[in-house]
Amino acid sequence: MNVTPLNPSIANESLLRLGELIETPVCGLSQDGNFVFQNQAMRNWHGQRDVELPTSWYSCVHPDDLSSAIKQLNAVFSNTALSQFECRLIAPDGILTRTFDIQINHSKGLALIVATPKQIHMQTAAEAHRARGRDSLTGLPNHAVFNDRVVGKLTLRDLVANPIAIAYVDVANFERINFNFGASAGDVLLTHIAAALESGLKDAKILARLPGCRFALMFEGQTDRDWAARAIAQIQACFAQAFVIDGQKIRVTANIGFASTSRFINSSTALMRAAEHAVLDARAQGPCGYSVFSDALSGSMESRDLLAKAIVKATSKGEIELYYQPICSLRDKKIVAAEALVRWNHPTMGTIPASEFIELAEENGTILELGEWILIRACQHAKKWTETLGKDFRIAVNISPNQFSLPGFVDVVKNALDESGLSPKSLELDLSPQAIRQNSSQALINLEALRVLGVSISLDDFGTEGSSFTDLIELSPDRVKLDPRLVSALSDSERQLFLVVGLINTCLTLNIATTAECIENQDQLDALFSAGCDEGQGYFLHEPVTQERFDFLLAQNFQQSAIQLPATRLLDDISTIV
Ligand code: C2E
Ligand code: MG
Repeated sequence: MNVTPLNPSIANESLLRLGELIETPVCGLSQDGNFVFQNQAMRNWHGQRDVELPTSWYSCVHPDDLSSAIKQLNAVFSNTALSQFECRLIAPDGILTRTFDIQINHSKGLALIVATPKQIHMQTAAEAHRARGRDSLTGLPNHAVFNDRVVGKLTLRDLVANPIAIAYVDVANFERINFNFGASAGDVLLTHIAAALESGLKDAKILARLPGCRFALMFEGQTDRDWAARAIAQIQACFAQAFVIDGQKIRVTANIGFASTSRFINSSTALMRAAEHAVLDARAQGPCGYSVFSDALSGSMESRDLLAKAIVKATSKGEIELYYQPICSLRDKKIVAAEALVRWNHPTMGTIPASEFIELAEENGTILELGEWILIRACQHAKKWTETLGKDFRIAVNISPNQFSLPGFVDVVKNALDESGLSPKSLELDLSPQAIRQNSSQALINLEALRVLGVSISLDDFGTEGSSFTDLIELSPDRVKLDPRLVSALSDSERQLFLVVGLINTCLTLNIATTAECIENQDQLDALFSAGCDEGQGYFLHEPVTQERFDFLLAQNFQQSAIQLPATRLLDDISTIV
């Protein structure tokens, strides 16, 4: 067997010959961890004749020992010290792992490794996968290996001359695929995507599967914006064709976040955080969004981090407040219900709308405590309005995916109803279809228990990506809220109008009520009313207002409807506002 791979310009012939005489595994490595030579004993460790010898020493190191191996090798190259440590090496079959005492010495641009064998052990198949640092589904390197490789590159390189870039690729609406086609189809889809990325992005130094439906790529060398745009186009091209699974064509898109090293992004943590931030920015743009991390994003990342920290204490500091947006009958514009919308009265940034902090609260888990607080407070206010009006008054409360997928969620709802005394039939929970799919088995249990409790379910933002007609049957909601994009596109073309009319008619046939969101002008209101939509909300009708202002609007509304309210109560309410 030849010495493989060999770089005669570096490898010293006598060293090679000497190595072949020794029974202890010996090898020489270049600075980036590639084998320059291996003696027969080392090659024997790598195994059988038909197994291709690895080119990188790092690919033989057990993943749990990888970061220490990288550090030791770098230390030897940077200060020529001798390094000694214990390290597990894996044979290419992934089954045998052996602990070695490793000695690294630096000589003439090479690291000389002498590996004295210690104990040997066999692994189970699962250990073998893990040991090889592979994702068992796609066979790609896993999260730990990707992180180690990025860490390794960043400690070795002169980042100005040799920048590196990473891209995170999030498969959009993956929960929907699992929900519609089953989890095993979802698994097969991920393997197809892995194969497409592997063949479409040959320039990438590493392609890895991260947890969930995310892939990560690392590139070296050129990383300017034009180059990033080309890499993004290559990634997008991998999603251009439908994937065929069990004879069915499945189309998916991806959100891509791209970040490269710079004077400021010079550690693996900063690089990964930048890519994470870019992928969040990409996601905010919709299902095919992409984003290259920039200075502008960097500013927003800092404020995002600050907000994420501050939100943890915002509820206990009394900075959270509920606003209410009136929901009106489209026939006469009278208020028939309200949607609770949370606001954060930040001491220096002013009033922050939900769209700017709910995602953060979801990410750091604060949403659970915040969501419970919102539910209790909204039920208490609705109870008060019920008493004022002398009849039930409906309150819609938004529920985030993480809240809804918890086993204890129904108890949280029961507790809010008990504490406030509100009737379950006055409470409507606004859920996005994604919230239900996130943990579909628990969500379906929760849905059923809520129905038994008598609480209504509304599908929020219905009618664009992420929702499907089959949801109307499978989830049988009491109401759907038409996505603002459908409402704003009403005037674009007759076809858009037909689409909305068709959707509303389908709901009517299935006995599902409809509410249109974000109505901003009379034309939209008229078109929706003629299409058969019964309720709506939006700035054209009323903006979200404070609880006190809502008291006032409600009183005015019912005064106009000539419903007799207790006079003293009405005067009390109005006097607190004026
Ligand atoms: P959503 O439930 O679809 O709420 C409607 C959003 O549209 C609200 O933004 C509202 O202020 C805004 N809006 C209302 N009328 C108009 C209009 O005519 N034009 C336009 N352009 N916008 C209008 P907000 O309050 O920032 O809420 C955004 C999203 O945050 C909500 O979408 C909901 O998904 C979530 N959210 C709001 N409050 C809560 C809450 O208390 N808990 C949870 N978990 N999520 C909440
Ligand atoms: Mg809503």
